[in-house]
Parts: sequence; structure tokens; C-alpha cells
Amino acid sequence: MSHGDGDHERYAHYVQKDKIMASALDGTPVVALCGKVWVPGRDPKKYPVCPMCKEIYESMGAGGDKDGGKDGGGKGGKK
Ligand SMILES: [Zn+2]
Repeated sequence: MSHGDGDHERYAHYVQKDKIMASALDGTPVVALCGKVWVPGRDPKKYPVCPMCKEIYESMGAGGDKDGGKDGGGKGGKK
């Protein structure tokens, strides 16, 4: 079953929302903030937020723009 990819698959990672949209359409993997290349799950809300993504996201100084960021990576406007 598992290829030993660790816990990554069990977390919801922060990814830019438009990337998620694109991925949902054609199934291509996206790169999360933590560097994980990942195909967003059907149901990210079931999973806890990836601690690494969360840390990076917060350190980016998203400045009070946290709501709803869990599965969409917030606004993701900053590169
Ligand atoms: Zn992550």
C-alpha cells in the first residue's frame, strides 16, 4: 500500500488556490509551501493542516488573512 512517503499524504498542505483549481481539473500535482509535490485530495478538510506549511505560511506574514486558508493556501497572491 504505502511507499513510505511519510505523513505527507495525511495532511492538508497550503497551496495557492488557483493551482488547486488547475489540479482539480487535470489532476496534475501542485507544490505545497513545504515543498511537497502533492495532488490535492478530494477532501482536504478531513485532514489536519501540515505543520510545516502552516509554519511557512505564518512566517510569510500573511497578516490576518488566515481565514479559510486551510485548503486553499489563503490568497496566495504573494510570491
Ligand atoms: Zn505541507
